Amino acid sequence: MMTQSDILAAVTLLASKLKEARAAAVLSGAGMSAESGIPTFRSGPDALWHNIRPEEIATPLAFARDPRFVWQWYRERLQTACDAKPNPGHYALVSFARGIPDFTVITQNVDGLHTAAGSRGVIELHGNVGRARCVGCGSVAPAPTHGALPPRCECGALLRPDVVWFGEFLPDGVMEAASDAVRRSDVFIVLGTSAQVYPAAGLVDEAQATGSFVAEVNPETTPATDFCDLSVRAKTGEFLPLVAQRLA
Ligand code: NAD
Repeated sequence: MMTQSDILAAVTLLASKLKEARAAAVLSGAGMSAESGIPTFRSGPDALWHNIRPEEIATPLAFARDPRFVWQWYRERLQTACDAKPNPGHYALVSFARGIPDFTVITQNVDGLHTAAGSRGVIELHGNVGRARCVGCGSVAPAPTHGALPPRCECGALLRPDVVWFGEFLPDGVMEAASDAVRRSDVFIVLGTSAQVYPAAGLVDEAQATGSFVAEVNPETTPATDFCDLSVRAKTGEFLPLVAQRLA
């Protein structure tokens, strides 16, 4: 359990590391958007849907079996993302970027909230629920918010959500771009992710191996906790604005 003075000491330490940094990067997960009202998969109403776990819906096999069912689930995710607003944690990262010449936001989230807050050049490892991709010609379009499901491309083939499903490879180039940003970073911050989903979780190891100062902000401990230089038990929407105030 961290006391208020532990939290303030952590704010001071992270702010001083960021002030010295020429380059920094963050990796965010579902917890980053929890305070925007988007549940994580580990808790909340998204943990189960019609008694099915996300791990059984967000797969190529589930889509091949029943594309309409998978789209129904994604349409709800899209609706939730469209209704959500960035929270103070997202905005704090925008202000970090003003002070650090080379600042990269890497996210596992598919909700687009970092970009909505004003972060630029966000590396979306797992795609975006706001987009659909044709399984035939590969063209990408905005995900339809209404109309019959499953949607089809003009070429006649099925459209699928433009997200990375369990068991799929990441889009070309994104992991390389994320690795580059991590290797350049003097400070790397892991935000609201259980650090269990690879290859994203491997970025924490990479940051450590390259000598970055590695910090974590999460109300719970994670497999990454023991490897971090600083691990803070707090909500990102509460902790990050305190750091941003020190940097201003
Ligand atoms: P996850 O593995 O990233 O775990 C969520 C983590 O967030 C947990 O460790 C939890 O302790 C932490 N957390 C909860 N509230 C927090 C807060 N206020 N501040 C900081 N940390 C907080 O996410 P998951 O739900 O297991 O999802 C697995 C995959 O699905 C990931 O790719 C994830 O990003 C994606 N997903 C995305 C969204 C989204 O786009 N918003 C939502 C659900 C899941």
